[in-house]
Amino acid sequence: MSTQWIADRTKSFDSSGIRKVFDLAAKLKDPINLSIGQPDFDVPEPIKDAMIDAVRSGKNGYALTQGMPVLRDKLLSQVREELPGHADRDLFVASGTSGGLMLAIMSLVNPGDEVLVFDPYFVMYDSLVRLAGGVPVLIDTYPDFRLPIDKVREAITPRTKMILFNSPANPTGVTATEEECRAIAAVAAEHDLALVSDEIYRRFCYDEPFVSPARFNDQTIVIDGFSKSHAMTGWRLGFVHGPAPVIQTMLKLQQYTFVCAPQPVQWAGAVALDTSVDEHVIDYRRKRDMMIDALSDKYEISRPGGAFYIFPRAPRGSGSQFVTEAIEHNLLLVPGNIFSRHDTHFRISYAANDETIQRGIEVLRKLS
Ligand code: PMP
Repeated sequence: MSTQWIADRTKSFDSSGIRKVFDLAAKLKDPINLSIGQPDFDVPEPIKDAMIDAVRSGKNGYALTQGMPVLRDKLLSQVREELPGHADRDLFVASGTSGGLMLAIMSLVNPGDEVLVFDPYFVMYDSLVRLAGGVPVLIDTYPDFRLPIDKVREAITPRTKMILFNSPANPTGVTATEEECRAIAAVAAEHDLALVSDEIYRRFCYDEPFVSPARFNDQTIVIDGFSKSHAMTGWRLGFVHGPAPVIQTMLKLQQYTFVCAPQPVQWAGAVALDTSVDEHVIDYRRKRDMMIDALSDKYEISRPGGAFYIFPRAPRGSGSQFVTEAIEHNLLLVPGNIFSRHDTHFRISYAANDETIQRGIEVLRKLS
């Protein structure tokens, strides 16, 4: 029986929650879809052209494991400019941010190691830690989703190995302040913990400039990518920078797993670095304001400063019950319990066109 072949390590987590939402979504005809975790704009034309040119000019073979110089050199000089004095910092190109996260966790987490994860969290964190045999230690950030630095200190044990940090955050859109970044950077340094900073939404900061904890802790491992900034979710391009020994270990693993990020996509990535997405960021700020202005009097919302998500409290019952109710009204949302041990909230994505957002607002006001 093939089910008996399944390895134990895959049984420590499941993906049934999010699949249920997808299954429900598939049944709806023309749903008001505010559940999507990717930009609603298309890849900018110059980037598409660069990808097509690369394919046509035969840049289709394996890339170097660490990335093609055309992209890696550019990324490295950007990083060196942004984080001066990090002499030990190395960088490689990964197969998406997810690829980078997987390699970071596999390279650093031993069985039994504890990893601090802020609840609510991006779905992958909990599962990847378990896959590595690690123990996710959830730190509750409700109700305002700000960094609870005292709880972080209390959660640290001799088994703590890593802190997984994400700002702007999925699913809350909450963006860490400079003080919060300083604080988490200092705690990691003080306790010799690997601080992994997932910065995939860094371009989407609406109120304050983005701050990375890496500015205050030169050992921070930064994971970033092109999926959200340039709407390249299907192209699988990310990058990781951090202390050289960690990067070298991740590369060793990349060599025998992902091998490399797709070569034509890397040529396009080099062009993406010169392609502004500012107009989209301005547009998403407007969409955020539109949502918040329309819903704040009816829902309890912690005002998000970035990404493209809002994480309100369900007005009654559980988050998943509310999402079921919304789906009955043709509105697709994501229940908070997919990202959390609590089932009290739900995620709205405003990466959608204005008409969809307005239709969604109408239903949400009716359901409040
Ligand atoms: N981190 C976070 C916080 C995300 O929201 C996502 C995508 N939803 C990822 C990582 C993965 O992105 P990628 O497409 O680069 O693998």
